[in-house]
Amino acid sequence: MICSLCPRQCFAERGEATGSGFCGAGTLPRLARAALHFWEEPCISGARGSGAVFFSHCTLRCAFCQNMDISHEAFGKTISVRALADIFRRLTDEGAHNINLVTATHFVPAVLEALSLYRPPVPIVWNSSGYETAETLKMLEGAVDIYLPDVKHVSPRLSALCAGAPDYFAFAAPAVREMCRQTGAPTYDEAGMMQKGTIVRHLILPGCTKDSMRVLDFIHDELPPGTPVSLMRQYSPVPQCHVKGLDRRITDEEYDRVFQYLLDLGLTGYFQEKSSATRAYTPPFDLTGVSAPAEEEENP
Ligand code: SF4
Repeated sequence: MICSLCPRQCFAERGEATGSGFCGAGTLPRLARAALHFWEEPCISGARGSGAVFFSHCTLRCAFCQNMDISHEAFGKTISVRALADIFRRLTDEGAHNINLVTATHFVPAVLEALSLYRPPVPIVWNSSGYETAETLKMLEGAVDIYLPDVKHVSPRLSALCAGAPDYFAFAAPAVREMCRQTGAPTYDEAGMMQKGTIVRHLILPGCTKDSMRVLDFIHDELPPGTPVSLMRQYSPVPQCHVKGLDRRITDEEYDRVFQYLLDLGLTGYFQEKSSATRAYTPPFDLTGVSAPAEEEENP
């Protein structure tokens, strides 16, 4: 396959197991973990957990990524499309409130094929960096019920520094508008679990509160009223990140400044407790739910 699935527009050759594009992904799905997950927003995780399927590789690869092993190093196991469909079925049988596809942009054709083999009776969540093309998102229309995109930065300088993607917001803005168009206003079941809708996530970075406010301006000015926002304060520096200023957590003052701005704009949604600002909420990427013996697996 010659690939142009994401804004990187590599037009790279991708074989089944590996590819020569920016993401390095092949066409077959590669997973690092597939298990019930309890640390998403309450309307996604609920009491029984979200059926989170963590895909390896990434089209953005932020310097501060909390999941560096799978996004940058591509730790995981390559599986068949049929095996992916079987994972959707198993997670559904385990009681997952939804099937939560985490960073799957580079595997859109395989995901759609797996969903054609087994369509779970629970909502499908598309959990993404926001760095998407509207064309690829249109392929997902009707297959995805809930979008859970990040809007990371507005500033091209910041997204260039963090991910070598000065065009991040130029793509993320129309992508999130397209997500909202597809899902319409949020709907919930009687237990408060989201059935359809788009939740926009934003992680506050240290020293970047002005850019966070520009993200909130975008949500307020350009997305449908009532679009829920998930404001995240869990930024935790990783040793591999060499971007100046990103070597510390955010301060209470920084969080309060952005949170107050959100309130002033009249936005609503989900807000993290300070206690969540820890890497303990990152699950172990050890092939849980993908394959039994992790030691069989190698990086590509
Ligand atoms: S999905 Fe991967 S190969 Fe395809 S355009 Fe994006 S980075 Fe390139």
